[in-house]
Amino acid sequence: MDIIGHFINGKIINDAARTQAVYNPSTGQVSQQVAIASRSTVEQAIAVATAAFPSWRDTPVIKRARVMFKFKELLEKNADKICELIGQEHGKISHDAMGELQRGIENVEYACGAAEFLKGEFSKNVGPDIDSWSEFQPLGVVAGITPFNFPVMVPLWMFPMAIVCGNCFILKPSERDPSSALFIAQLLKQAGLPDGVFGLVNGDKEAVDTLLHAPEIQAISFVGSTPIAEYIYTTATAAGKRCQALGGAKNHAIIMPDADLDNVVNSLLGAAFGSSGERCMALSVAVAIGDEIADQVIEKLQTEIKGLKYGAYSDQSNDFGPVITQAHKEKVLGYIDSAEQQGAKIVVDGRTAKVTGFEDGFYVGPTLIDAVTADMSSYKAEIFGPVLQVIRVQTMQQAMQLINDHEYGNGTCIYTRDGEAARYFSTHIQVGMVGINIPLPVPVSYHSFGGWKRSLFGDLSAYGPDGARFYTRRKTITQRWPSTNIREGKQFSMPTLN
Ligand code: NAD
Repeated sequence: MDIIGHFINGKIINDAARTQAVYNPSTGQVSQQVAIASRSTVEQAIAVATAAFPSWRDTPVIKRARVMFKFKELLEKNADKICELIGQEHGKISHDAMGELQRGIENVEYACGAAEFLKGEFSKNVGPDIDSWSEFQPLGVVAGITPFNFPVMVPLWMFPMAIVCGNCFILKPSERDPSSALFIAQLLKQAGLPDGVFGLVNGDKEAVDTLLHAPEIQAISFVGSTPIAEYIYTTATAAGKRCQALGGAKNHAIIMPDADLDNVVNSLLGAAFGSSGERCMALSVAVAIGDEIADQVIEKLQTEIKGLKYGAYSDQSNDFGPVITQAHKEKVLGYIDSAEQQGAKIVVDGRTAKVTGFEDGFYVGPTLIDAVTADMSSYKAEIFGPVLQVIRVQTMQQAMQLINDHEYGNGTCIYTRDGEAARYFSTHIQVGMVGINIPLPVPVSYHSFGGWKRSLFGDLSAYGPDGARFYTRRKTITQRWPSTNIREGKQFSMPTLN
């Protein structure tokens, strides 16, 4: 059986002292083993990146951007292969994998504009014969640690921007679906990236901890679950590193009595069950204002859910695939059980899902739960499965309070025809990304992505303008070239223009 290795100094390296099984979730079978990096393998990747940094930093920005232009072309050319790798190990259907890849490519496109956004700021004559400017210098060697659910898009949120800004980057992708990231690492080399500027180590806590404690690593970007995000943030910042750590979510949709119900139901279906609900922006809670609208939405959802099709990633006609592992499937089923035990009503039950021909796959059918309350564990936790819960409240204020009280604040959305209500909602809701009649308000690549509360630890969001700031350090230079006949007097007070 093949072993999925690391990518260090432009070559695939196998450090197979420890390995871990990688599954094909659609069949439930082990497909490959992935090498789990030892501390010394990670240190080797760091040493190579440290050596590559000075010459990459000094490479003109337009040449760095040219690598990204070429990389974008190669991603497009190899799209089918990349989506196949995503499907095999993650289980998402090819049309969904294509959407993930496209969103990732848009981050590469944004990075291609580095010459423009790294231009800096200049002020002439801030004092007599004095000019001042700010420039944005790369940090050095930086690292990214990414989750299983977007094995290509989330790495693409990070490294194109880090690299185009002049940094060297080490990626530690999810050990559950590592092949697509390893494949695109090789495309970077083909695009002309010098060896050592990008490295990839597969692994677990040992690899992550080595990155967190290495003095050479200047900054850490993390995307994953909240407990690990918090650990990464506290450890990295205690070690003096810059850190952005994006965590989990519980995304609510408020359904106002005036909403267009067909639109609500269509978009809830895709946003709750797409990718098996394994998206940090998945809409997992519908908050209906009033029983009348709740009853209508549930009735329509119930009918529509019957028409959903789930199964293996390779069948394009499926709406969504399996969840990532058997252990995760059991966790999702446990939350559905707990909701039932705590008094919620299971309207559509996906617990007994079976797919003919793929009986061992990790499938959970679409599940709809009514009469959920805020004290239930299925409401408090992020389920990360194809489960949509409905909470009934009487007013918009109650709905907003519920959302504001939740520990997560990643995404949310309101369905309404009332502009005033929508404006009030977007102004006052304590959530980082808000949709108005938009179920998945994932910002485009030239904005930035980040939640509030325990969905993001750190000050800067991912990608877009915040990404450029995260991966650079401002330096401000103030300069005077006095004419030879001007001599400065002694001045002990703070210099001013008065
Ligand atoms: P995870 O936290 O289990 O793993 C994320 C990364 O951390 C992986 O690379 C993993 O190897 C590493 N890791 C796991 N345990 C570790 C430990 N004890 N010490 C050090 N490193 C460790 O997350 P996941 O299950 O892969 O991904 C799903 C989670 O990611 C969900 O909570 C989802 O909401 C979140 N997510 C958030 C965003 C966002 O932008 N906010 C985007 C995608 C996913």
